[in-house]
Amino acid sequence: MSWTLMIHGGAGRFERGRLSPEVEAATRAGLARALDAGTAVLAGGGAALDAVAAAVAVLEDDPHFNAGRGAALTREGTAELDAAVMEGATRGAGAVARVSHTRSPVGLARAVMERSRHVFLAGVGADAFSREIGLEQVGNDWFVTDPRRTNLAELLARDDDAYDVDMKYGTVGAVARDAAGHLAAATSTGGVTGKRWGRIGDTPVIGAGTWADDRGCAVSCTGAGEYFLRVGVAQAIDARVRLLGESLDVATAAVLTEVSALGGTGGAIVVGADGQGGWRFTTPGMNRGLATAGGERRVAIYGDEG
Ligand code: ASP
Repeated sequence: MSWTLMIHGGAGRFERGRLSPEVEAATRAGLARALDAGTAVLAGGGAALDAVAAAVAVLEDDPHFNAGRGAALTREGTAELDAAVMEGATRGAGAVARVSHTRSPVGLARAVMERSRHVFLAGVGADAFSREIGLEQVGNDWFVTDPRRTNLAELLARDDDAYDVDMKYGTVGAVARDAAGHLAAATSTGGVTGKRWGRIGDTPVIGAGTWADDRGCAVSCTGAGEYFLRVGVAQAIDARVRLLGESLDVATAAVLTEVSALGGTGGAIVVGADGQGGWRFTTPGMNRGLATAGGERRVAIYGDEG
């Protein structure tokens, strides 16, 4: 049986000439490492959940992406991290929001699913659970990088009530179908630069930014969370595939059109029960990658890369 892995490293205003050659090369290298991590699991006959968790954990540790280390910063200059995982066979799910000290938020989301009676933990309680079960803890400064400090300073200098909706910094996610035919999705983010008041986006909300259902598809989103939340994007794509019999591409396009109609932009990666995968985005670019059992392997950033 074949397997498919798709990853994203955020949708946004990635246009040729806007990214420095160094950032572009580092972004492509980070995506390639994440594909390697997920591919190692799937090629060895491993589970989709293990593959998406492994791919996302690599991108969380990479400061070039907006998740884990290198997260977009709150208005106060701190990192508050959101993540979720879901597996399609059982529709088991785990999510965390506003995590401040757990090195791998996606690992914590998975632990919520597998080692607690709950689905969604937030804030100090999520970190307390993480400590109790022995996950690696770091100081909040570990997540904070100089480029993100600069991004925040520039934003606040422009407008005191600033809130970044350009999402240029790369939320991360993965979807997979394993050789046994099971699906899984994982997504992790620092949210949007300049966020405050405990703002939470779509990423950790099951059915909005993250979703997996073996009867339909697995979805991981990136984009303007305030819009993706109100459309319930990930679950809506699955519902169209499962209940209307639409193709992944038609369903994803239709739901992103709903997001656009409300005024939001972004993208999604999707894999179906038959192993077909696809991506779509309404931003100029989306960091993304694909690997399959058939030997296909691709990393792309710009809209014109196919
Ligand atoms: N969807 C994320 C959020 O709103 C941001 C992103 O995808 O870049 O928190």
